[in-house]
This record gives sequence, C-alpha cells and structure tokens, in this order.
Amino acid sequence: MATGFMTDTLFFWHDTGTAALMLPADPLAGVEPDAHVESGRTKRRGVELLDVTGLLDTMQRVRARPATIGELLRVHTDAYVQRVADASAQSRGGDAGDGFTPLGRGSAEIARLAAGGVLELVTAVASGNLTNGYALVRPPGHHAVAGMGMGFCVFNNAALAVRHAQAQLGLRRIAIVDLDTHHGNGGQELFYNDPSVLHISIHEAGAFPPNSGWIDENGADAGEGYTINIPLPMGSGHAAWLYAMHQVVLPALQRFQPELIIVPVGFDGGCFEPLARQALVVDSYRQMARLLSRAAERLCDGRIVGISEGGYSSGMAPWCLVGFIEGLTGETGSLTDPWAGVTAGYAAAPMLPHQQDVIDQAARLLPSITTAVPAT
Ligand code: ZN
Repeated sequence: MATGFMTDTLFFWHDTGTAALMLPADPLAGVEPDAHVESGRTKRRGVELLDVTGLLDTMQRVRARPATIGELLRVHTDAYVQRVADASAQSRGGDAGDGFTPLGRGSAEIARLAAGGVLELVTAVASGNLTNGYALVRPPGHHAVAGMGMGFCVFNNAALAVRHAQAQLGLRRIAIVDLDTHHGNGGQELFYNDPSVLHISIHEAGAFPPNSGWIDENGADAGEGYTINIPLPMGSGHAAWLYAMHQVVLPALQRFQPELIIVPVGFDGGCFEPLARQALVVDSYRQMARLLSRAAERLCDGRIVGISEGGYSSGMAPWCLVGFIEGLTGETGSLTDPWAGVTAGYAAAPMLPHQQDVIDQAARLLPSITTAVPAT
C-alpha cells in the first residue's frame, strides 16, 4: 500500500489578486500592487520539488472531486456557502469575510474541489486502500469558521474531513493536530463543545488570529478538556516544537485513542517565513511527521491524513513539504536538503526556559483527556 497524494492544477489557479504580502493593494494609500503572498507559486513549487526528488512517484494519486453542498453544510452555514458562490461568480471576485480572504472568479468552485478532494483522500485512507495521505490544496482552510472565511481560508477542509469521517465512514473519535504556525481557530471553534474531536494546535502566540489560541481555551461543556493550545513565544524552534510533540501531542493522542488523525500543516514555521517568527528547519517537519505516523500506526492502523495550510517562503517551504512527506512515507527523496547547512545553527538552538514553561503548562491539561466517547 502507498501514501495517497491529492492535488489538482486548478488549486494553483485560485486567484488572490494583488497585495503587499496580504495587505490589499491600494495605490491611493501607498500599498503598491504586488503578488498576494498566498498565491499558487509556493505550493506549485512544492509539487515540482516532490517530482524532482522522486517522492511523487512513490505516492498514489487521488483525484479531486467537488464537495457537494450537503457536505459543506456539515460545517458551514447556508448563507456563507451562498455568499462565497455569489462573490466568486463576479468578474472581479470578492472577499470571503474578514477582508483578508480574497476570492477570485471561480474561487468557490476551486474551494469546493479542494474540500471534496480532501474527503476522497480521507475515504481512501479510512477504507484501507491507502496507508495514509497528504492533500496539497488551495485555498487553505484552518482559519475558516462556520459563517465566515478568515486568513486566506475559505472552507475548513480539516473540519469537513472530520464530519465526513463521522457521518460516512463509521469513525467517531478523531484527533486534529494543527501544525500550521498560526492558531487553528476554525477547528477549535467548530469542535469546542464536542468531546468526539480532540483539537490540538501548536502555534506562535498571538500571531493570527490576534488574541486567539491561549492555553486557557480548553474546550467547554461536554468538550471541556478536548481543546489544547500550545502558544509558543516568538523565536521557538526545532527543540521547542519537538518537546511539545513529546510532552503534549503524543501523550494526548495516547490518552484519546483516535480512530483517525487529521494534520492541518502549514510550513510557515520555517525560519525564513515572512508571516511568522518561528525557527523550524526542514528536518523539524520530517521528524514531526514521522512521530505522528508512528503514533497513527500504534493507535489507528496508520490512518493519518495531512492537509496543507499556509507557508509562504517560496524558497524554503517546498523543502519543508518534502521533509513532511518523507516523514509520512518513510521514503527518502533523491536529493539532500540544501537548507541543512544554512540552518544548522537553527536546528541546534536549545529550547529557552520561557518556551519550555508554555509547553509544560499545556502538558498539565492532559489528565482531562479520556476515551469517554466510545469508538465505533
Ligand atoms: Zn499559517
């Protein structure tokens, strides 16, 4: 059996227009039009690098298909789905809600194709036809909430995957481990009261959304204890993230005993990333993917699906993707990481005490996680 890989050329055609990084272009306000930071370029380079390293050939292609309206409505409101469709039908597109989620013409159809492709991949993994899987999509999803797009995210692909697995695939207890460097606020909000979904997010404290993703956001009602945030200080790197994996993420998964693990992963934790200030290296992503794959093998027959989110360093993020895929597949690409020499000092950087404090605080939340929700 192989690792599944789902992508589609149309994902790279989702048109976010012009901006200065993510600031909407406005010549009258001194914002010169440039390519929007969330363009198709970085992820397209990622696919090309997977091809050049030979990793693409080791994986089995899964074809995307549009999500149905009914599938979208498991997570999103009717009014929001309609609003995205209406804006996307306009010749100049629009915005999905927060002013930082541009839609181009046809973006609704492309976002539906991304979401549906994720569901196809999850179906293939859950049915045992694939070992595990990775979906490389645009637009991303983990900031999107039920009634609004946020932070470049239109439909919440990871949340849709969870509800699809529960509604259609006979799986009940599902873990989301969000490794994007910004807070997985969308998944947190959607599952905040739901003990059938363990939502863990490692991210840079206070980066995006602002004032979101703190340790005391720990779930509510029946879901109390099933949301865990690890808001790392600026400058946290390889050692801190791996410590968080060992001290919090892996023990939490062990306690929860998921039947499926979904990993929204952005490569914006890289040390040359323009929209965050963490200091991860390519090997950080390789090691985190390996640890999660092994946990999935122990806990749920290897069922783990990675879904791409952010990551905006067009030079380094493609290599972080390669590292993650190597961790997922156990295969090694034919090329050696050219960033390794440049980032050797970052990789060796020790974890600082104020970084460890945050992770140790999050680890104290572990005892409230149980397997109280029965598996199917
Ligand atoms: Zn991000």
